[in-house]
Amino acid sequence: MIRKFIPMAVPVLGDTEKKNVLEAIESNWISAQGPFVKQFEEEFGKACGTRQAVSTSSGTTALHLALVAAGIKPKDEVLVPGITHIATVNAVTYQGAIPRAIDCNAQTWGIDPARIEKCITPFTRAIIVVHLYGHPCDMDPICEIAHKHNLVLIEDAAEAHGALYRGKPVGSLGDVACFSFFANKMITTGEGGMLVTGDPVFARRAQKLRDQAYETERRFKHFELGYNYLMTNIQAGIGLGQLERLDAFIQIRRRNALAYRECLQDIPGVVMPVEEPWARNVYWMFSLLVEDSAGSAAGTRRDELMAQLKQRGIDSRPFFYPTHLQPLYKKQMRDVHLPVSEKLGAQGINLPSGNELTLEEVEYISEAIRDIL
Ligand SMILES: *Cc1c(COP(=O)(O)O)cnc(C)c1O
Repeated sequence: MIRKFIPMAVPVLGDTEKKNVLEAIESNWISAQGPFVKQFEEEFGKACGTRQAVSTSSGTTALHLALVAAGIKPKDEVLVPGITHIATVNAVTYQGAIPRAIDCNAQTWGIDPARIEKCITPFTRAIIVVHLYGHPCDMDPICEIAHKHNLVLIEDAAEAHGALYRGKPVGSLGDVACFSFFANKMITTGEGGMLVTGDPVFARRAQKLRDQAYETERRFKHFELGYNYLMTNIQAGIGLGQLERLDAFIQIRRRNALAYRECLQDIPGVVMPVEEPWARNVYWMFSLLVEDSAGSAAGTRRDELMAQLKQRGIDSRPFFYPTHLQPLYKKQMRDVHLPVSEKLGAQGINLPSGNELTLEEVEYISEAIRDIL
């Protein structure tokens, strides 16, 4: 069956999710206290290569918490990619720190290791890499640079649950990693997030800051600025059910990506997403670049394709807007030029990619694209 309107993604929820939500309600454990939260953290930590996992209210709060726990302070500089969700950059700003955008790699679309070092200053304290649209960044050279310059390495893995770099799961590749469980992510808790780290001291610090920085000495006596970034037991119950299905979801997405590839091959001016030999791409979004026709303004052909897909009942998204061109950031980044990020921002399109998407729909969407272009 082909839906009248094919959206980007809708959540696929099952019996475990239902059972756990009901159990949370019937037991009255609806806040962040309750058994599913610890259980979800344990299971998720295992899935990330046995890391300490600290659940949060969103991917954004996980990122902020990671920066606070890492000791990032006002005026510190944090390197971020030229193409990412705004949350990556805003988390830096919440700390009063200064985001510095680095251009992306034309293959992986993640931060380009070759461009990092020339942006490091005496004030640089951290790098946030983003495994964009489900493909991991090339981490070995990035880890080496972070180590050499004593930078905290944060993975924003909000789009890449289950992706592998040289056989290792994302989330286990830096000092700390952040995931999102928003409704359209690989797996969802509605809203929600997770911070994972291999360092138990860092995890305890994050746990404390996540919950108002309570002290053990005397209840309601505070020494530090804390936050309420907690995940509820209801959300965690949903997350446990979703986590059981992550492998199946990844298989569906990889199957759909393969079908998209086969159907869309050899359309002139259409660039397929890459899967590096060292990577397992989970295709959070199956994405294309639509190259501009000679003489037309950047992005015209992509925008035209999106408009025509919409008329045929097919949703799509443009790539994220380049960080350094964001009205919110362009003043503080006015001398920054990131040609790859600018090209990606103008030519990139995400196609429907959800866990519910059928092969029949992939073929239908691909045919429409072939027809339009
Ligand atoms: C979705 C996303 C976030 C934010 O996650 P929320 O749970 O929506 O706060 C952060 N970074 C990236 C790369 C994302 O895709």
